[in-house]
Amino acid sequence: MKESCCSNTADSTEKSYEVVKIEKAKSFCSGCEDFAEGQLKNKIPYSILSCEGACLRGEVSRLVANNICFNEIPEKTSRICLGGAFTKNTGQRNLVRNAERVIALEGCSIQCASRMMKGVIDDLETEVILVDKYYDFDTNLFAINEVSEQEMKQYAKQATEKIIEKINTESKSDSGTCC
Ligand code: SF4
Repeated sequence: MKESCCSNTADSTEKSYEVVKIEKAKSFCSGCEDFAEGQLKNKIPYSILSCEGACLRGEVSRLVANNICFNEIPEKTSRICLGGAFTKNTGQRNLVRNAERVIALEGCSIQCASRMMKGVIDDLETEVILVDKYYDFDTNLFAINEVSEQEMKQYAKQATEKIIEKINTESKSDSGTCC
């Protein structure tokens, strides 16, 4: 397995926190709530979080999450809306709260998905997967437009196969080397 990107600038044993104030949602997304209710009712055991970010690594992570939840093992996994679960205490957050396993696909070692959800669910345990360790690419690249859509799909395919194997055989986080 490859090293993930970025370098570790902080003492990883020391935890510090940022306090954020999120305006409560005034609107309601029925599609999102119906989806969450259906997944809970069907006792889908794993929740999949992903970086929904704007860079190449974030986009590949997002594609892998979609592959896993909608193509490979939909009977076991719920694709979580990270923004919804983070910003409102309704169905999506409940899916995460009640999951047997919470698996966070992280685009990079910033680990935004797992850190966001830990901020709103006390004592949440997540299994962190650093997706960029699971496909071969030029690690100097950053932006989505630096590769073709075809290449991006190929990265996602390669990572999906390895990550499915990991999900099916173990429940351990990747050790982050950086950020
Ligand atoms: S958190 Fe990392 S992987 Fe996600 S968009 Fe930002 S830089 Fe990219």
